[in-house]
Amino acid sequence: MSSSETKQAFLPFALPEIGEDEINEVVDTLRSGWVTTGPKARRFEQDFAAFLGEPQIECISVNSATAGLHLALEAIGIGPGDEVITTTHTFTATAEVVRYLGADVVLVDIDPATLNIDPKLVEAAITPRTKAIVPVHYAGLAVDMIAILDIARKHGLRVVEDAAHALPTTLEKELIGTMGSDATVFSFYANKTMTTGEGGMLVTRNAELAKRAKVMRLHGINRDAFDRFTAKVPSWYYEIVAPGFKYNLTDIAAALGIHQLKRIPAFQARREQIAQQYLGAFVDLPLIMPPLPVEGDTHSWHLFVLRLADDLEMDRDAFIEQMYARGIGCSVHYIPLHLQPYWRDRYSLRPEQFPHSQKAYERMLSIPLYTAMTDADVQRVITAVREIVQGA
Ligand SMILES: *Cc1c(COP(=O)(O)O)cnc(C)c1O
Repeated sequence: MSSSETKQAFLPFALPEIGEDEINEVVDTLRSGWVTTGPKARRFEQDFAAFLGEPQIECISVNSATAGLHLALEAIGIGPGDEVITTTHTFTATAEVVRYLGADVVLVDIDPATLNIDPKLVEAAITPRTKAIVPVHYAGLAVDMIAILDIARKHGLRVVEDAAHALPTTLEKELIGTMGSDATVFSFYANKTMTTGEGGMLVTRNAELAKRAKVMRLHGINRDAFDRFTAKVPSWYYEIVAPGFKYNLTDIAAALGIHQLKRIPAFQARREQIAQQYLGAFVDLPLIMPPLPVEGDTHSWHLFVLRLADDLEMDRDAFIEQMYARGIGCSVHYIPLHLQPYWRDRYSLRPEQFPHSQKAYERMLSIPLYTAMTDADVQRVITAVREIVQGA
């Protein structure tokens, strides 16, 4: 390592890109006197529907994707005795919401070619108790939703997509969010492809599901009770129809979202550019590159996940340590759920049941890929990866 490299500032694994428009909109919100859910949250929802190309689709803003997944599963009636199938290779939020509702999680392995849930294993995991499938568009590459929706139709199951990574991702040129599942949930957490600090969006074409999710988003308050009788019911009157949650998105957060969303095409273009640079720069190395979409489809490039090839005699932890020694943050997505004490112990899971996720986990790392990176940052990551591999 050269001395100039050691003096460089630490390059974080991820950073948001917040512009003046976002800042001005937040300030405007603060000055307006309306800081919780109000006109900006409404506008963000309308803008999101327009972005998806379907002004009529229901977009329900929430304070996290976790909240959105919980609301979607609650609204389709998931409860004790039910089973929900999802991938072991995800963040715990995807699965924990099933447990909030007292239902059971059935984890299945990934397809090593895509790192996404394997539809064949989904079908094999179906039991009389199965109610829903929760596919995760891992790293921003679309799951084979054609296969998942086919299986769901055949077995009478519901589908809720965890699209925390998938804005904007397409499958057969259709944006994720419009594929025809029961609901799709996006995340605006700090490190996602756009951010509201914390936030999420539940998207559905199902009016009943949307109605229930809106009621449960805010304490189980039913607005229809006074919408129907607006003329007669005083403004202070409301009815509680269920023990709901507190999952609404504030206008302060929505103010960020309105402007971040406008930048999504440019954000994706920059992420794509960085991904292409990495793909080109590592082509000759004993590294397994991330799976790509078919020609004509969009990868959101939320994550750039490298896997060390078997013939590279270096372990993953040492690789990450060497990246940190060069001042570059890296991460691992994910420690599979079957290795996490809660999930492992609750369902007596063993790594042998998930050979592809286990193998991928042991050899994978995520390198920095975000719009706030300069060309020099990208070059620095490329140099570091090449040096570490060549020094192994
Ligand atoms: C980030 C993430 C979530 C949770 O999103 P929040 O908005 O932080 O609740 C869920 N699933 C996956 C796969 C994620 O990466």
